[in-house]
Amino acid sequence: MNKLIVKKAAVLGAGVMGAQIAAHLANANVPVVLFDLPAKEGDKNGIVTKALNGLKKLDPAPLASKDKLKYIDAANYEEHLPLLADCDLVIEAIAERMDWKHDLYGKIAPHLAPGAILASNTSGLSINTLAESLPATIRPRFCGIHFFNPPRYMQLVEIIATRSTDATTLDALETWLTSRLGKGVIRALDTPNFVANRIGVFSILAVMHHTAAFGLGFDEVDALTGPRIGRPKSATYRTADVVGLDTLAHVVKTMQDTLADDPWHRHFTVPAWLRALIEKGALGQKTRCGIFRKQGREIQVLDLGSQDYRASGGVVAEEVAAILKTRHPAEKFALLRASQHPQARFLWSIFRDVFHYCAVQLEQVADNARDLDLAMRWGFGWAQGPFETWQAAGWSDIAQAVAADIAAGKAMSDVPLPAWALDAGRTGVHLAQGSYSARRTAYVPRSALPVYGRQLFPERVLGEGGANPEKSGETIWENEGVRLWRLPAVDAGIGIVSFKSKMHTIGNEVLDGVIAAVARAEAELDGVVVWHEAPFAVGANLQQVGEACAAGAFDLLEATVEKFQRASQTFKYAQVPTVAAVQGLALGGGCEFVMHAGKRVMALESYVGLVEAGVGLIPAGGGCKEFAIRAADWASRSATPGEVLSFLQPVFQNIAMAKVAKSAVECVEFGLARDSDSIVFNANELLYVAIREARAMAEAGYKPPLKPRAVPVAGRAGIATFEMMLVNMKEGGMISAHDYRVAKSAAIALCGGEIETGSRVDEEWLLTVERRLFVELLKTPETQARIKHMLETGKPLRN
Ligand code: NAD
Repeated sequence: MNKLIVKKAAVLGAGVMGAQIAAHLANANVPVVLFDLPAKEGDKNGIVTKALNGLKKLDPAPLASKDKLKYIDAANYEEHLPLLADCDLVIEAIAERMDWKHDLYGKIAPHLAPGAILASNTSGLSINTLAESLPATIRPRFCGIHFFNPPRYMQLVEIIATRSTDATTLDALETWLTSRLGKGVIRALDTPNFVANRIGVFSILAVMHHTAAFGLGFDEVDALTGPRIGRPKSATYRTADVVGLDTLAHVVKTMQDTLADDPWHRHFTVPAWLRALIEKGALGQKTRCGIFRKQGREIQVLDLGSQDYRASGGVVAEEVAAILKTRHPAEKFALLRASQHPQARFLWSIFRDVFHYCAVQLEQVADNARDLDLAMRWGFGWAQGPFETWQAAGWSDIAQAVAADIAAGKAMSDVPLPAWALDAGRTGVHLAQGSYSARRTAYVPRSALPVYGRQLFPERVLGEGGANPEKSGETIWENEGVRLWRLPAVDAGIGIVSFKSKMHTIGNEVLDGVIAAVARAEAELDGVVVWHEAPFAVGANLQQVGEACAAGAFDLLEATVEKFQRASQTFKYAQVPTVAAVQGLALGGGCEFVMHAGKRVMALESYVGLVEAGVGLIPAGGGCKEFAIRAADWASRSATPGEVLSFLQPVFQNIAMAKVAKSAVECVEFGLARDSDSIVFNANELLYVAIREARAMAEAGYKPPLKPRAVPVAGRAGIATFEMMLVNMKEGGMISAHDYRVAKSAAIALCGGEIETGSRVDEEWLLTVERRLFVELLKTPETQARIKHMLETGKPLRN
């Protein structure tokens, strides 16, 4: 099989993973049949129906839009097995029991379509053993497909071949998972728990071991093992609570049962306190009580000394915090090793034992060091994999230190480091030519699958080298805020506009840059894309706005808003196609740029919204104007062309409540993007797709839209309707007087000003209305207080 086409998929098992995998398939426009056991009572699809309802409530949302739910059909093994005949991909995600999985394979095998791929989401069972119950005709199309929870958001999928899996089928599956579902795929070997869980769970066990050895509190360890060392906020123990303590114990048990020869085998057991929690039913987040619990407003943590819960604090000692802030990794590790503080000794110990484990096990668990490091980044959210951290800190110094600790009996196992790790002159495992493979004793380059050609700037591991987009390509023009550049090897005729500001905020230099860069592109190029790494743009540069307010420079502010509007209009009316390549946050002014581009190419994980109300403002970079025009347009195509107001209603609510669309799909539903825009599941493909879109638009004879001249607006009657809603909310105490004022300003701007309902206006009129209202709001002390608070705390002020 060279190309995988999935017209329909089946997921077997509607539990935690199965239901969410089905949701993500539906996100990618793949219709799904979701199976589970027949319910013993009532509707036989009862288990699945309940799981589907559960999908709507989960946070973070597995569905990119609730509307996607209708593409998942409920089914049960008793009545619906013939439905499998239409499915090109069947993912099994039932409970982790070899005998149950074998039974099920026996049941479904006769119903599978001749070319279908069957894959198991098992976390740790042997894929080769699972294959044994399958007929020989199916085995070449069977493999492991290990998603991580939550599957929409966790990038990693491990695919695992059996001895008989067909190689081209695996390539086709990897290609499809990468591009269609947006995943980071690594090839894992058929060893217990595969790569990420094997290393990740060992890391948790090492943390538990040293927590006890150094007598630290669980909250203290979480403060040490979270963002301070490049790991997620939930650190170690809260992650365990989220995963479920029973699930964690189960995975550890798999390691104990299947890895008898592992030199660390005696550590593959959960501590007595954890077993006691499980016995009590304190399983973590799902039972609202585990290592942590919430009592009223207080977060509490289990204290082993008192055998009771206490308020969670978790303080990192100043000395240790300072070490962790050291910029140079070699220096940081030297300081950690030299410190006598128990927190520092703890940290060195957990790093040492994970380095030791990875070096010894690399040959057994992964093809090469890059796969192992990427698995930890994508599956556990580590900023760097363990080999990267080791390499950054100076390979041979760390190798010597680890070896010395092993010799001194300080490490969790006395097995020596493999010889390759101690090679004289070794500087690391990731080099420009590839990453070290202990199995092949060679450096392995990246996969040559064509799908990776779509990733112009793929995620790189430290030491690998590779181009930095900020310094790549040919610069055509730049100022302080914007660089206009191109990648001649991809398309010399398409310019790339990248913002240089922090978090890509939009200040004066960016506005000047955008206007000038688009003008340059009109003269010399065939199209432009706006692209930089995430976030797309978190909004206007509030610092500049705050300073101008403080200086009372309101004329200057009005001029800046006018320039903002001009920049938006520049995108909309450019003589060449303009494509916004959106990923991550696109808020406020960033959202307005997105709205005005000729076309949008959006990563699925795009979070877009007009959030100005949070700082006491209304959208005035053309956002209100654009919705006034769109509402009139939507109305004109509806059964009630005069009813602009009903189309403005949801828009008004979104703006008044500063609501953010939580996926590219929702972005279309909010009217911020169009049905014809492209949604890209793998953000690494965004630039490639945007350039290709711009080129296609140019080739198709791009023409900018005509400026609307006579837009019917909702006017006074519209404003009065919105005001009635607001009065009720104010009287009910739901909004403050200033919220009222801000929302009313938005209502006026959306309704085209306080003019006769049904009046016809042009774009300039609408822009003037929103600009004036914006500046009036800026003059109020409440809005100024909101801006100040946002700059100081990063959070909105309710006043
Ligand atoms: P779960 O317990 O939430 O769901 C399991 C489902 O299997 C249930 O819907 C149940 O009705 C069904 N089931 C039980 N016995 C069955 C049988 N004999 N025949 C057919 N169906 C049966 O489990 P889960 O967490 O979704 O895990 C499912 C699979 O995914 C397991 O193999 C697990 O190891 C793997 N996995 C889990 C996670 C995770 O974080 N939960 C992550 C990756 C992989």
